[in-house]
Order: sequence, then C-alpha cells, then structure tokens
Amino acid sequence: MNVFVLNCGSSSLKFQIVETDLEMIEHDSDKLLAKGLIERVGSQALITYQVEGKPAIKMATPIKDHRAALLHVTNWLASDETKIPGILSFDDIHAIGHRCVHGAERFKKSVRIDKEVISGIEDCIDLAPLHNPANLKGIYAAREVFGPQVPMVAIFDTAFHSTMPEENYLYAIPYQMYRRFKIRKYGFHGTSHRYVAYRYRKVNNLTRDSTNVITLHLGNGSSACAIKKGCSIDTSMGMTPLEGLMMGTRCGDIDPTVIDYLIHKEAISLDEVFSTLNKRSGVLGISGLTNDMRDLLAEYAEHGDRRANLAINMFCDRIKKYIGAYMAGMNGTDAIIFTAGIGENSAEIRRRVCEDMSYLGIELDPDLNKQAYGGKEMKISSEDSKVAIWVIPTNEELVLARDTVRVILNAPRVW
Ligand code: AMP
Repeated sequence: MNVFVLNCGSSSLKFQIVETDLEMIEHDSDKLLAKGLIERVGSQALITYQVEGKPAIKMATPIKDHRAALLHVTNWLASDETKIPGILSFDDIHAIGHRCVHGAERFKKSVRIDKEVISGIEDCIDLAPLHNPANLKGIYAAREVFGPQVPMVAIFDTAFHSTMPEENYLYAIPYQMYRRFKIRKYGFHGTSHRYVAYRYRKVNNLTRDSTNVITLHLGNGSSACAIKKGCSIDTSMGMTPLEGLMMGTRCGDIDPTVIDYLIHKEAISLDEVFSTLNKRSGVLGISGLTNDMRDLLAEYAEHGDRRANLAINMFCDRIKKYIGAYMAGMNGTDAIIFTAGIGENSAEIRRRVCEDMSYLGIELDPDLNKQAYGGKEMKISSEDSKVAIWVIPTNEELVLARDTVRVILNAPRVW
C-alpha cells in the first residue's frame, strides 16, 4: 500500500510517500519512495522535492495557501520527469495519513477521517489555535485533490499520552475547571516518544510489559516522557507545548504570576507576553544569540560566551530534573533514550545531561557518545551503567504511515 503522509503546519506542508503494509511493518521493511517540504506557504514559498535515491530538487515560487501547495506537490508527482517507482498515477496513492496536533480527550488513538472526526478536530481548535486549523486545511485540500475515494486517517500528537493517570495530567486548580473546560496536561510529540520507545524494545528484543523507559525528544521543541510498560504515564509538555523543558524559543515551566507582573511592569498586552514566552524565550532568550543549539555550542566553543554557556546549562539542567522526577515516578528506568535534532546529534548536550548522574545509575561511555550522530541508532552507556542510554533517531512519518495502514485494515496497534 502506498501511503501519502501529510503534515501541515501554519505556513508549511511536509509530505512523504511510504510503501508499507502489515507484513512490511512486521519486518521493518517499509520503503520511503519520495518526500518534500514546502515552507512559507502564503508568500514566496521555498520548495524541496526528492525521489528516494535521487538528488533533491529545490525551487521558489509564490504559493497562496495549503490547497495550492498540495496541487503543486501533485503536479510534481504527475510530471514525466519525477518517476517515482510504483507511482504511475494518483490511483497508486492508496491512503493518506494526516498528522493532527491536538485530539484533546476525544481522540485516544488514530482514526479514519469522516465528517464526525473533522468536526471533532474542529472542536479542539480552542486548544491548538495555530495547529489544528492548519491540519484541517490539509485534510480539506487532500480530499479535494485526491478525491473522496482515497481513505484518510488522522494521527494525533496527543493520543499517545492519553494513558496518563489523572494524578499526572491534572493541574492543581479547582477540579471544576477540568470538568467544565477540560483544562489539563495533554502532552505532545506523542508519535516520536512512541516510536523510539518501540524501537528500543524491538532492537533489544524486549516486551512492552517488562520495559520502562524515559524518552527525551530534544529539538527546537523539546519534551520528556515517562513510559511504563509501553504507556505514557507522564510527559513534560502540558495543555499546550509551552510547558515543560526549556526549548529553542519557548520558556517551558514558569510561575504563572510572571505573566501578570510583566503586563504591568512592561505595560504590554497579554498577547505580547505570550509572544515573548513562545518566541523570544528559552535558549534564545537566555543566550541573546540564537535558538539554534548547534550554533550556540559552536559560539561557546569558539568564544566562551558566558550567556551561551548559561543557556546550554539551563537547557541541560531542566532535562536532568525531569529525568530525576520520572525515575522517582517509575521506581527507576531501564533506559534513557535521546532523539530529535539535538538528542540525535549533540554529544556535548548528552554529556552535560548525563554528567554527575552516577547516583541514579546513569553513566555514559564518552567514546560511544561521540560516535552517535547523523542518524545512527546505538547504545551510548558504559558497560557498568545500570540504566541503558541510547540514541534512537525518531521517524514520526513512519508512525503516520503505519497507523494509516493499520486503521484502514482494522489491524490491532501493537505498539
Ligand atoms: P529538530 O527540531 O528536531 O529539527 O531539531 C533542531 C535542533 O537540533 C536545532 O537546535 C539544531 O541546532 C539542533 N541540532 C542539529 N544538529 C545538531 C548538532 N550536531 N549539534 C547540536 N545541535 C544540533
């Protein structure tokens, strides 16, 4: 089955075409056929397309909305030069999987998209005003461009965390506020946490029921997750992706009083405060230099900038605190798994996170740690480390493609 996987952000469209079916899932032999990215939808868009095994092609052209972006993709797919093996026409796209950010309490697993599901995603717009409308635009555009006969599946970032116990997802505010408005922690990056935890078990031949892990998705957006017997029991992001770890531009955990204080002291609006907390805080806000961890590490290595080092230390310290909290919550952990841009590539960040954690049984092997970058999947803990430490590259698109197949074929989700 050829699955078109679509991930629409507020001004971007990412896609992959993946050949997969139940047997290929079982044997990890799914095939990526093509992928692409359109950035800056709504103005002069930057486009990258790539057929697997061939060089990427890049171009820039005005694209007014997500529908126009998807039409651009399908024109490329249909063009004589593109030639994706196995895709001769649109009839060879058998299903579409949509990444959807917020499923609130309504969507606890991936579902086939119909009218009711669309109105359910609309109902969650209040909780993700930037993301869910973009996801819906992708759904409408795909329905129009590919036609109603192609089945579509929605895969939610929040769904994996729906197993959290109420002790962990409730905020300590009046319970009626949860009852009336569903104010609670939902968590994000669910497909990523789920995938790397699954890979860890698969590579090490472990069962769900016998394995507890802490997964660290460290990219421009970052979150940690405690996974007990295959189920998320706690995660660092909250009702929105602003809570939790310090991120590229987001503040993470903060005393809410700061918001009111800033409104009065700076004489700015609530919107401006939230814009600061979302876009000008985190690693960028502390360093005053950049939100890009690779650049920040290079800056510190070359010039020894004090605030660059402070931002890096704060980023790592927050991660340590969450590891400690989750180890307390699970009575230890079998493994800690690093993933996403920073987690997969930065030996320095992993070193700082794992430094002085031997009391908790966490000990890196410095040489193995340095070898893990650029998409390598490997163990980086020392022989004596009680807790296994792994780097596992995430693959959210693969989860989307596989869930699409499983939902359409009514097959049970095994991880
Ligand atoms: P993501 O959001 O998962 O794409 O991750 C983006 C982040 O990963 C950015 O902050 C990058 O600077 C960071 N990153 C990518 N490669 C490296 C690297 N080799 N060292 C440190 N950070 C990196």
